[in-house]
Amino acid sequence: MNPLDRLTSLFEKFPGIGPRQARRFVQFLLIEQPGFRTDLAEHIRHLGAQTSQCNRCWRWYSNEAKETPTPKGRGPDRSVGENICSICSNLHRDKATLFVLEKDADIDNVERSGYRGLYFVLGGTIALAAEEPEKYIRMRELLRRIEQDASALQLSEVILGLSATSEGDHTRKLLQEKILPIAEGLNFKISSLGRGLSTGSELEYADPDTIANALSSRS
Ligand SMILES: [Zn+2]
Repeated sequence: MNPLDRLTSLFEKFPGIGPRQARRFVQFLLIEQPGFRTDLAEHIRHLGAQTSQCNRCWRWYSNEAKETPTPKGRGPDRSVGENICSICSNLHRDKATLFVLEKDADIDNVERSGYRGLYFVLGGTIALAAEEPEKYIRMRELLRRIEQDASALQLSEVILGLSATSEGDHTRKLLQEKILPIAEGLNFKISSLGRGLSTGSELEYADPDTIANALSSRS
């Protein structure tokens, strides 16, 4: 494979990027200043070392934020060897609500809506025909997290914030089935986003006002 085709096929692996767009990216790189390509390559090369995945919500975050010194005795509840992001370690967040969403990109949008609880990133949705749902999302991790928080009497509500798509609906139903027995035993509420999110819309692309609306009308 020639270098142009090789790079094109790499871009095609990106979510939502088809062969034509991938080819356009390669052409863009060719006409940009060489410094741009070097800069881009360097940033990609160091991405792994500069980021961590949070062990509680599973979102990716920059290690730089972790280096902020916290006053002794008031620091985040971070155990040795654990990666905990700035949202999960923020003592001012409402620990009683857990917002379950599909991907990291959804968090930015929900944050802009004014939500100040905690999160859990599923890492995707479950396809309608999927036989082993655990393979597609962090189902086991979510159930463990919910059990821990609820047992510690910290949890009063789990909000299932999935996209208004058929896969999102399917995933929500499966999650409800799995979480319900825990909710009944440990006494917390399971809710879903309400009106505002139009059919087919993904949380990532919904505007903050729409999300705020869907949050306030959740049931
Ligand atoms: Zn986190």
